[in-house]
Amino acid sequence: MQQKMGRRLVIFPLPYLGHQNPTFELANILHSKGFSITVIHTRFHSPDPAKYPHFNFHFIEDGLSESEVPFQDVISLTNTLNNKCVEPFKAFLSQILTDHGSDQEPVSCLITDVMWYFTQAVADALQVPRIVIRTGNLSSFTAFFARLEIGDKQPDDLILELPYLRVKDIPRVGNLGMGGQSPLQHLLSNTITQTKASKGLIFNAIEELEDRSMAITQHEFPFPVFPIGPFHKCISSPPRNLPTQDQNSISWLDSQAPNSVLYVSFGSLAAVDEAGFLEMAWGLANSNQPFLWVVRSDLVQSSNGSSQFPDGFLEKVSGRGHFVSWAPQKEVLAHPAVGGFWTHSGWNSTLESICEGVPMICSPCFGDQMVNARYVSEVWKIGLELEKGAKTEDMEKAIRTLMVEKEGEEIRARAACLKNKASICIQPGGSSYKHMEDLVSLIMSF
Ligand code: UDP
Repeated sequence: MQQKMGRRLVIFPLPYLGHQNPTFELANILHSKGFSITVIHTRFHSPDPAKYPHFNFHFIEDGLSESEVPFQDVISLTNTLNNKCVEPFKAFLSQILTDHGSDQEPVSCLITDVMWYFTQAVADALQVPRIVIRTGNLSSFTAFFARLEIGDKQPDDLILELPYLRVKDIPRVGNLGMGGQSPLQHLLSNTITQTKASKGLIFNAIEELEDRSMAITQHEFPFPVFPIGPFHKCISSPPRNLPTQDQNSISWLDSQAPNSVLYVSFGSLAAVDEAGFLEMAWGLANSNQPFLWVVRSDLVQSSNGSSQFPDGFLEKVSGRGHFVSWAPQKEVLAHPAVGGFWTHSGWNSTLESICEGVPMICSPCFGDQMVNARYVSEVWKIGLELEKGAKTEDMEKAIRTLMVEKEGEEIRARAACLKNKASICIQPGGSSYKHMEDLVSLIMSF
């Protein structure tokens, strides 16, 4: 670690895995730069402090009841948390601002997820600067804040204001709720307004990959914007002692030929319906490729809540199909046996795949995933998109093209090239490296 900065940063991650993981990675990077870290966290989805013994943790009572959670989607739940956390968050923040003991450095600033929109008013009231972190990329963020006139445009029409994106790539704001705004509209409009009142905007992204979206973002947010990704490659983590269950994936991969395995995972939240699950199973079986498939207990939205493989499927894939309920994804993608990734196109998964040079098949489900899939398939051209409703034959063809056919050669070669870019940007002189230096200077100027 570098010399201590004598400053404390208060970090407040959004309590979903795809937001928590990169926010903790950012906290680790800032800690390695000499800042002390205090994490404020909700009881809901609370992380294990033992994994981060170098941080101080404080858990706030979010007031969510067990019965409330299953009945809200992620968007509504995020709005609810923004209402319920105001008072406990404010109480704790004001306490550490006034009462830092002799061993506690003064707080320099607050870093919160962009979707913790209520925290800007608290930061203003307590006169502490707030910087926000968007754990997704620049292009999906531009799609969130663009004020678009869709008019009578068709789903496949390109949107002039947003490079490369079509009408159907943009998240729909849904039906209006009681306040005249849909939950997504409410979340997005508050997020954008409160981000504009902050002091800076951090992305887990690489400027060179999204230079047009970077220009649009800087125009809309005329304050420092820091694309400093890929976070997980910025500091070398010690070799992990994987839990036994996780080692199982790796030891199975050890027995497979180089670049032969398709890794299949839809992240921590996305689900498929029963019909889609069966199509996937037969697509994998008919492709004749080895595969490692993460079948989470809640992957399939089925009438009886279980994921039943079709008759004859397990026999057909015996010896070349391996199933786990969770995988050590970063290690899996870095394994020499993995030659492709069938993903829901969550941004963390996409970036982790780019960093290992693994080409992708994209099956986006919601939110920013359509934008990510569009960039992978049509802008960086390091993968193929399977549109909603794709059938077994489409899946089988996509798998074979990506993994073995001549047609996929250029995709595989471009993925290898992009890996190189992702590694150069965090080296001295690279774009993320420079933005990181600027971020540290901004924090030190408070
Ligand atoms: N992940 C994992 N093992 C799995 C599936 C996912 O470690 O079996 C991790 C993955 O490495 C990524 C995160 O979970 O860091 C998923 O984030 P992403 O943004 O891709 O999707 P989300 O879960 O937010 O939809």
